Amino acid sequence: MESSRDIDALVSDLTRSEKLSLVCGTVDPEGTATGYLAGVDRLDIPPFRLVDGPLGVRAEGKRATAFPASIATAASFDPDLGHDQGRAMAREATALGQDVLLAPGVNIVRVPQCGRNFEYLSEDPVLAGDVGAALVSGIESTGVLATVKHFVANNQESARTSVSAEVDERTLRELYLPPFRAAVDAGVGSVMTAYNRVNGSYMSDHAELVGDVLKDEWGFDGYVVSDWYGLATTVGAATAGLDLEMPGVALDTETSNDDGSLDEFDWPDGIPDATHAGLFGKPLSAAIDKGAVPPDRLDDMVRRVLGGMARTGLLGDGSVRADGALDTPAHRALATRVATRGTVLLENDGVLPLADGTDIAVIGPHVTEPKLGGGGSSETTPFEATTPAEGLSERADGTVTVAHGIPEIESVSLFDLLPFVEGGHDEGDWNDEDHDRSMDTAVEAAAAADVAVVFVRDTTTEGKDRDSLSLPGQQDELIEAVAAANDRTVVVVRSGGPVEMPWRDDVAAILEAWYPGQADGDAAAAVLYGDSDPGGRLPVTFAPAEDYPATDKRQFPGIDGSAHYDEGVFVGYRHFDRTDTAPTYPFGHGHSYATFEYRTATETDDGIEVTVENTSDRPGREVVQAYVRPPASPVERPPRELAAFESIELDAGESRSLSLSLDELAHSYYDPDDGWVVDDGPHTVEIGRSARDVQLTVEYDG
Ligand code: BGC
Repeated sequence: MESSRDIDALVSDLTRSEKLSLVCGTVDPEGTATGYLAGVDRLDIPPFRLVDGPLGVRAEGKRATAFPASIATAASFDPDLGHDQGRAMAREATALGQDVLLAPGVNIVRVPQCGRNFEYLSEDPVLAGDVGAALVSGIESTGVLATVKHFVANNQESARTSVSAEVDERTLRELYLPPFRAAVDAGVGSVMTAYNRVNGSYMSDHAELVGDVLKDEWGFDGYVVSDWYGLATTVGAATAGLDLEMPGVALDTETSNDDGSLDEFDWPDGIPDATHAGLFGKPLSAAIDKGAVPPDRLDDMVRRVLGGMARTGLLGDGSVRADGALDTPAHRALATRVATRGTVLLENDGVLPLADGTDIAVIGPHVTEPKLGGGGSSETTPFEATTPAEGLSERADGTVTVAHGIPEIESVSLFDLLPFVEGGHDEGDWNDEDHDRSMDTAVEAAAAADVAVVFVRDTTTEGKDRDSLSLPGQQDELIEAVAAANDRTVVVVRSGGPVEMPWRDDVAAILEAWYPGQADGDAAAAVLYGDSDPGGRLPVTFAPAEDYPATDKRQFPGIDGSAHYDEGVFVGYRHFDRTDTAPTYPFGHGHSYATFEYRTATETDDGIEVTVENTSDRPGREVVQAYVRPPASPVERPPRELAAFESIELDAGESRSLSLSLDELAHSYYDPDDGWVVDDGPHTVEIGRSARDVQLTVEYDG
């Protein structure tokens, strides 16, 4: 095998226009890749193919394993599983001829309304960083490059291509930047800039964050790619540190309406019909001629892109690439495992797990369709998928009655909002047919069954934020009616994030299954019957909409073109703790079917050792979480912050210890003048099973 080629020598052999063709994308002639560089034939530089996205591979016109939503992967609190998922997705990318996966998305869940929260990981930077880094290392263990996105403060879809996130440095450093830093430390090959502005400057042009922080301070040596059509200016981006424009077709990203209000979606109506028409095409050449961009900068851009290609084995050393594999039994099983491990048991009065022989009614407007994911660039079309009705009919040995109860919930997708962009799930195989949708039929089925299982869903998409956290349509009424007919009613929620549950006290159990992907029905059956322990814990706080931070329009979705992050570092549970507001379900919450006692917690050289005992008669998995309470501090700090977590699987009656290592950064605060500061004095470490369920405390000297 030829060894990797000398990149500096290649750069010096390239002509100006060849160099430009390596930093300005174009259209894949096969129509499969999401982003494409044609390569340079003359020098044997092959094409380079970039493909979406975080929930599986979205190669146009191709099928691939549809994994659960990223928020489900995070809910597993299991970075090793994230690694396995990353590896599987990347092997599928290779099988489909792709070199770069445009994943993971690690933006912090700042507001529950964000339409893309399902593609992100958590409201907490430690969880988002750990799971994000594991996805990166899994993807890149195959030789495929990962692209961590969207750098940074892309926390809403309203006016996403123009809004300026007004956010102070401490907040950026403590909350929004750490997951990207974790990805860089894990060796990520590329970083995608966000569409939005931060403190006035477009992220594609952000010299301070892209040039100074990402590249100089963190030492990121891969390439920085624009989001699609998301490059603001030629000179600004080139000098700030952006290396690659995708897809190489320029769009005007002008901002808000005349009255200062922000559009939901404010791209212009059409895309110019041109290739190589990007700002890094001819305009970059002209800027170099005028002396506005140093020629060395173009060389550096090319060197970084070629460096990425070399890492994927395209420049000589193909042995770095793991074999491609598509839709294998192992990948299908992994999709089910991520779904079961990400499913959170929010409530259970003992009705679950279902006993064999139970007669069940499976109720809901979409029980004969899988909930694959949310809308937009992450829509993966699987080879096969199971619906709740199929999964439960297959598993149950009592009678199963299926009823839809109410009309379908209309789905929304970016591809409907942007008719000029092609894509989206190929839903042909799963389109729901005509069914009896009368509520009476559903209620009768519920009354006649031992247990009624109601499946409900929200519908979220890239490109649009949610108007409300209520379940759409008549789903709340359906649950109330079913619960009135059967007091053993279980609700399975499939949503991209928190939903309000006005019926919560009227039902016997609630599962949050996020968007489960192709394994939908199988995973639901495995958890409902206890074949799999519900492994998930909440990566985001669940509460009524008005209790979250950023409820002022100035904060979200913003006014006069800006969203002011006035809540600072008090996002998610940090806000609920600060205001002493009880959430509906706290961050980190979720039950196992087993029960656990926390026996001891002691300080070790680099953290805390905790002994946990399974006090039940069945095996189960506990996620042990360590929150740090800072001592008195010159700045206002969150009352507690997640510093570490570990999971442990214990057999019935088994007792074992696990170690939580406490990274100093996880309990520091950021001072814009002095950098990271650890407050003097002992820190209290709270060990527990959620941000609100402390089992043991340790005074930690760190
Ligand atoms: C999204 C990115 C995606 C890209 C390519 C953009 O609209 O924000 O996440 O990777 O499109 O499809």
